Amino acid sequence: MRVTWTADGDVWRLRLRLDPGEGVVGTVTDGQEVELATDTCHVRLPRPAAPDGAPVHPDLLALAAWTVVAPWTTRAVLFDRPISAELAAALHDGWGVEAGPVGGDPRSGTRLAISYSGGADSAAVAAMLPDAPLLHFRRVSHPRVPNRWTHYRSDVLAGLAAKTGRDVTPVESDLEFLLRRPRPGYPEHHAVMAGAVLLADAMDLGGLALGYEIGSRWLGGGRYVHRYTPDNPMWSPHGRWGRLFAAAGLPLVLPAGGISEAMTMRVALGSELRDQVRWCLRGDGAGPCGRCGKCLYKELIQAAVERRPMRTAITADRPVARKWQQPPPYGGQEMIEYGCAHVPGIEDTPFASAAKYLQATRESTRWLERCYPPAVEEIPGPWRAGIEKIMADEFGFMGPEDVERVESWGRR
Ligand SMILES: [Zn+2]
Repeated sequence: MRVTWTADGDVWRLRLRLDPGEGVVGTVTDGQEVELATDTCHVRLPRPAAPDGAPVHPDLLALAAWTVVAPWTTRAVLFDRPISAELAAALHDGWGVEAGPVGGDPRSGTRLAISYSGGADSAAVAAMLPDAPLLHFRRVSHPRVPNRWTHYRSDVLAGLAAKTGRDVTPVESDLEFLLRRPRPGYPEHHAVMAGAVLLADAMDLGGLALGYEIGSRWLGGGRYVHRYTPDNPMWSPHGRWGRLFAAAGLPLVLPAGGISEAMTMRVALGSELRDQVRWCLRGDGAGPCGRCGKCLYKELIQAAVERRPMRTAITADRPVARKWQQPPPYGGQEMIEYGCAHVPGIEDTPFASAAKYLQATRESTRWLERCYPPAVEEIPGPWRAGIEKIMADEFGFMGPEDVERVESWGRR
């Protein structure tokens, strides 16, 4: 794999070239197969990437590029400027690829910024860290790839982020259109931070916080495997991505890594950001669409947090509700259990079958209201004590029995 960056004002253009033997079908760290649609993409920054016309640190350019090209790289990656030996070592140890050319010193920075999508998880993190700047990734169309996903309203989400009243840096990119299959999206989940990485010197960043909660970090949630994942290759500090970001002076920080989606939602909806929180990708200025799978799933959680019946027009026979008619395991199953245990009248909702299968109770789901201590222990030093205090004050920590529930997840 060869990659080159070209800067044209505030637009950074990335071109990739496959080596002989590399194909257009690659594999993301989470196992998803992805097919390449084209060979260029761009990132538009709202401010220069380095102060006073200084060059951007090559490790940042290499890291941003790697979040895009990793799935298709097999044996080696050649960047267009020399990277530090530390970054090359992290690429070698994590992926087994030879990375070069090598030369120059590693970088560092001091501030913590938040990769902010506007969903409940990242809004919760923003509420916990009121002084941290927010970086918002906005999808824009690609000049050569038709957009067949016009229902994804990235303009609405960017508008909501801008209304938070926070220090928000919007970054625009068409990098998601590099994927022909399965649909436009981040080549690696970490590509959402491409703009934040490019701006790390300009903003003196020394860490990037994300909204990933206990399900994504420790329970193999979402589209991943249903099991305890201490060595999560995407989000653990000692995993390949954690070590790579740390080598570039930007350790990944998961302030909500020890709490559940129900708790991040409670924090987000109880915060000043409440009116800007939006997990639905399809809704417009008037509100979420109320018809998509994400709206259904999140309404279950919100109803559970608010201890009230669900408000949804979606019925069990709709395609977006189909998976909840099947037996478990489910993606995000811990939240389905929590929802089924706390929503009055669950038997009259699309989750009635799931509730019968799961047999969850308030007692069996109480662990999802407390913080898993190892999640705090892995937060980098400068930010650990602050997060630990919030976790202790807002949620309290899990005892041995709760911890056992986390660490046996998917085994019973
Ligand atoms: Zn929706």
